[in-house]
Amino acid sequence: MIAKSAEALINEQKSHFLIPAERVANVFENNHLDHAFLVLTKIGYSKIPVLDKNQHFKGLISLSMITESMLGLNGIDPSNLSKRQVAEVMQIDVPVVNKENDIEDILHLLIDQPFLVVVNSDNVFIGIITRRELMKSINYMVHELEKQYDVILKKSK
Ligand code: AMP
Repeated sequence: MIAKSAEALINEQKSHFLIPAERVANVFENNHLDHAFLVLTKIGYSKIPVLDKNQHFKGLISLSMITESMLGLNGIDPSNLSKRQVAEVMQIDVPVVNKENDIEDILHLLIDQPFLVVVNSDNVFIGIITRRELMKSINYMVHELEKQYDVILKKSK
């Protein structure tokens, strides 16, 4: 359990730390890898969500997954990129969160991931929560905690 006061203050910023789907770069599962390669290279993010045509979340694709698919027996073979689809190489074992997950779950999951995918109950992609955005809320919380709550040291060291 995390401190209720900390949780309340972080939750005040909840609307700020979700980056909504319309602002998140994505590719479709049936896009070819050359398209995904261009998108990732242009936007400068190393990993982005993969969706189906109905906006369901399907997985994540990164530049390294794409470059690995270029490796052939005789070195790098970029011709694979126009033949293979994103669904063939994307990562599918991805933790997702929804409105049932609290801040504690999100904090735990963000230890190992730079961002978390948020979906609704039908697995429709809602947006992402990045470590960066959550850090802004934690920064707010540590500055506000003693202004808004009485924090008492229970045991001196
Ligand atoms: P940040 O914490 O802002 O550095 O973002 C962490 C990761 O989240 C990035 O490396 C991307 O993989 C992903 N990400 C952040 N913002 C976006 C976005 N607008 N579109 C797609 N992916 C994003």
